[in-house]
Amino acid sequence: MTDHIIRLQCDAQNYPWGKEGSDSIITDFGPEASGRDWKFDENTPYAELWMTTHPNLPSKLYNNPSKLLSKHLDEHPELLGAVPGKFPKPVEGKNDKHVPFVFKILTCKQALPLQIHPDKKLAAELHARDPKKFADANHKPEIAVALTPFLGFAGFAPFDRIESNLRSVPELAQFLGGLGSYTEYLDDPTSADKLKALVKDILAMNQKSSGLVESAKDTIKAVTGLAEPEKERGGGDAQGVVRSLIERIERDGPGAVFAGTMWNQEQRQRIEKALKKTQEFYAGDPGIIVACFFMNLIELTPGEAMYVQEDGLHAWLDGQIIELMANSDDVLNAAFLEPGEKDDLNIFVDAMRCDPRPAETYKIKRQRWTMSEGAGAEVYQVPAEEFSLYHVAGESTSTTIKPLNGPTIAILTSVPSSGTATIVDKTAGSTIDVKKGQVYFIAAGTTVEFGAGVEAWAAFYDDQAREQTGDMK
Ligand SMILES: [Zn+2]
Repeated sequence: MTDHIIRLQCDAQNYPWGKEGSDSIITDFGPEASGRDWKFDENTPYAELWMTTHPNLPSKLYNNPSKLLSKHLDEHPELLGAVPGKFPKPVEGKNDKHVPFVFKILTCKQALPLQIHPDKKLAAELHARDPKKFADANHKPEIAVALTPFLGFAGFAPFDRIESNLRSVPELAQFLGGLGSYTEYLDDPTSADKLKALVKDILAMNQKSSGLVESAKDTIKAVTGLAEPEKERGGGDAQGVVRSLIERIERDGPGAVFAGTMWNQEQRQRIEKALKKTQEFYAGDPGIIVACFFMNLIELTPGEAMYVQEDGLHAWLDGQIIELMANSDDVLNAAFLEPGEKDDLNIFVDAMRCDPRPAETYKIKRQRWTMSEGAGAEVYQVPAEEFSLYHVAGESTSTTIKPLNGPTIAILTSVPSSGTATIVDKTAGSTIDVKKGQVYFIAAGTTVEFGAGVEAWAAFYDDQAREQTGDMK
């Protein structure tokens, strides 16, 4: 018989947009999560900690680091309960058994690429065409839960907001005015097809000068009274316009650029902050225009969560989050990276979901979970079938989670500052002393108790149990 609670050895991805060194919460968890002496470098970005069986950075067994969790599950499929055979596996590791999700801690100091994750059909096509780049033939709906205050772009803002942005920011109107798709969209401002055509034209602008630049410069001069932008500024069309907008914010104060729009003062300032932040890292990238003038900018306070469906446009901007998604690492990128790294815009825009709606509709509820006893857990109502998430944070009382019919992976994000911290396998009657940052696999059918003072975030599969909720939070 094998243990039902198994400590894992996990590793981090060093994507360039991650927070660096001790700014990244991952360095806080890393030594215990990795289970080895992890030497952190203050200048290295620690973007994502992966807790998963996915072959792109698979977790291993802490007690036997030469063995992948996916191999162990292949030898002991009963640990996965109802999962085997239910969901597509990663193509690469198809001979092993998998949890149906990728669980991450993610940190970002600058915008991630403006991206979508292809739906199942497109993912299969892309994988067949280029299996190296698109490792999976699976979709990737995902949730983000804030660990620190978090800002991210997700989906298109409601039509009336987009229209008011386009009509009330003169620099933008002039900048886009030369595009046929701009006029066509404003003639029919609730047409998703016309919106897509305009967004495609903007994303297709390269970062070199185009015919639009000169006319935009004239307008900037007329509207703002500023002298013509310096010569080097003209290197990019989007760059000059965004710089002029930032100058106007600085000159006229917070809220100035979006003053005529439908955003309230708080929202205006948030978007202006995003405008500056994206310009700081991606000057000249036309994705700045798409993100700041067409999309929802969503702010999450710690504990709040949002959900992005397959094919949903998004770009996280700043903060540290829990991220949880279906078993895929496929992505299509259209902005906020080197021009040569952008994906085919035709495929991107064809697939891109275009259902403008308010930011609030991206947020998902957390509720008191009746599968928990004692101090209790909160469970997130994730629309995706493959995964859900619970959070335990009993300060002076322990929390017991009743058996689930699928697997769980939990990271311990806080333990009491004094005394012992434990989790208890109540099914087997064994107690484990734990430390902050450790990551555990918990088998289907296990009753687990998180000791007093232990805070844990846990990704799990159980399509029935996650509905067992009490009062709304
Ligand atoms: Zn994503």
